[in-house]
Amino acid sequence: MTLDPARTVAELRELQELTGDENGAQRVAWTDTWEQAREWLRGKLEGTGAEETIDPAGNQWFTLRGGSERILLIGGHIDSVPNGGWLDGALNVMAGVEVLRRLAEKGAPPVTVRLVNWADEEGARFGRSLFGSSAAAGSMADQDELRQLRDGDGILLPDALKEHGVELDKALDARSELEGAAAYLELHIEQGPVLESMDLPLGVVLGTFGVERSRITWRGQAAHAGSTPMDRRRDALAGAAKLALYIRDIAREVGGGAVCTSGGVVTRPGIVTSVVETAEQLLDQRHLDASELARMLAMAKEAAVRFAAEENIEHEWERLWNIHPILFDETLIGFADEAIRDVAGQSHRLPSGPLHDAAEVARAGIPTVMLFVQSLRGLSHTKLEDTKPEHLELAVTALDRTASKTLDWLAA
Ligand SMILES: [Zn+2]
Repeated sequence: MTLDPARTVAELRELQELTGDENGAQRVAWTDTWEQAREWLRGKLEGTGAEETIDPAGNQWFTLRGGSERILLIGGHIDSVPNGGWLDGALNVMAGVEVLRRLAEKGAPPVTVRLVNWADEEGARFGRSLFGSSAAAGSMADQDELRQLRDGDGILLPDALKEHGVELDKALDARSELEGAAAYLELHIEQGPVLESMDLPLGVVLGTFGVERSRITWRGQAAHAGSTPMDRRRDALAGAAKLALYIRDIAREVGGGAVCTSGGVVTRPGIVTSVVETAEQLLDQRHLDASELARMLAMAKEAAVRFAAEENIEHEWERLWNIHPILFDETLIGFADEAIRDVAGQSHRLPSGPLHDAAEVARAGIPTVMLFVQSLRGLSHTKLEDTKPEHLELAVTALDRTASKTLDWLAA
């Protein structure tokens, strides 16, 4: 049996037919429809000889035993958001099925290959994403909070898990699944507009962005809009406004994919007849390089001091949240790049804005890479999510070639 990428596209349509409706995909984790999708997946792997196991976090594994202790992992997630798209997560899993079929036909692979269908990547029902992969990576540190989580109907997360055979307290035992893992590959739709705008079907993902989130509170003096001359004002909004525009310069100067967003400013008293006394501004900055991200934050802080002085106002800077960039493996990036050039002629290296299961695996110290395939109009998490079938087929072939190169590397 040779690789049959058209079969992957047909199977994705079949899955959509089985677990979607007129509003889109309905494979929300820890529901009957999700279980039905997992059962369907099980059927698709029958005949490959891959052995199925469900780990303590509910992740579904298919193992094709090979000649060594080192293990190649290929991952995805069959769960979706409600009214989701037909490709997010499912493409990765079904492309992995096709790779496993091709390998199984040749007998035992040089190293063991495992396909993992991560449990609850989306966090759609309880608001906690990357459940299964964070448990396996050992980074799940919020079990006390998870115990309290309820869905829209008031059902507790631990009770919902139990219905699917998962004990929250034992979820972290899934860590043993990553023992021996020497490489992890994940194919995903881009969910953004970059590849389409460059007219390229495929790209290699360098890693996931580091993020710095800040709240800046500017303090001036409320004063009457009619009786206060312009040169006597201490306008808190002026500081926020200057910073909101200056972050464009920061992103331009730092470059390399830098993005900055001032996603909200709340002003008080917030009435038409008063100068603004306080302005609470939210800032999100992202970069793939930790030192560049630190520089972006420092530039914004420095500018804020200057703007406060210019406007004769005060300001206070708080860090709301941050996460370091998670970089993928250089060698695997090289393999994916070559594979993409083989099948599509041209490749492109890009960062990922969203986090993915792959980031959890990389965080656990396992060499990881992701491939992105173009998303039409950059849309995802909607039934409008789409990718041209010919691009999906190229993506399956590129994943397969990346897997072959990785297997040769691991077997050497
Ligand atoms: Zn996804």
